[in-house]
Amino acid sequence: MDVELRIASMRERIAEAARRCGRSDDIALVGVTKKHPRETVVLAIESGLHDVAENYVQEARAKYVDLPPARRHFIGHVQTNKAKAIVETFDVVQSIDRLDAGRAIAKAARTLGKPVRALLQINISPTERFGVDPADARALAERLRVDEGLPIDGVMAIGPQTEDRNEVARAFERAAETFAEVGGTTLSIGMSGDWEQAIRSGSTMLRIGTALFGARA
Ligand SMILES: *Cc1c(COP(=O)(O)O)cnc(C)c1O
Repeated sequence: MDVELRIASMRERIAEAARRCGRSDDIALVGVTKKHPRETVVLAIESGLHDVAENYVQEARAKYVDLPPARRHFIGHVQTNKAKAIVETFDVVQSIDRLDAGRAIAKAARTLGKPVRALLQINISPTERFGVDPADARALAERLRVDEGLPIDGVMAIGPQTEDRNEVARAFERAAETFAEVGGTTLSIGMSGDWEQAIRSGSTMLRIGTALFGARA
């Protein structure tokens, strides 16, 4: 199946899943293109995808040259020494997981005069290394908003890598509760293996790689 068909079919499946749980609000579909070539990113955008995401800034910089218009999301770990490159390359930084990272991104945004949308990455899974403890998320968001002027627009989380659906559901509920505390418009949860569960938990943004672009090398 080609990328255009997969995107269309994924959109239908998302709409169906949303209907099944009585939702009629918009759910954004972000195409995660890490380890796929630039042609795939271009094709995805030309097929109507409005949002694309990458995990590594160097990889993205090379692939995003002369890219058709799309919202670019950074979903990898924020290294403070790469903050300027991240802000230059991306429109949304989904992975602010500590004060340092938020400060560096805010500073880079000021220096470059480029507004950046940011989400807090929260940790809801024992298998994940990064992310702020949900209990500390609200305080971190407030601090970054007030002290740094960084507009924190919600939360992002990676679900636990497990076959246990209940564990995934519990983790996503935690993310939804944290989103309610943090505020903003975006709850970015749901990947290729758990997006239906994420929709049931209120996800407003799915980050899908494998299900759209195939397995990564
Ligand atoms: C790789 C990645 C995704 C996409 O994962 P798939 O399982 O391929 O859909 C989503 N979010 C983050 C943060 C990722 O690193």
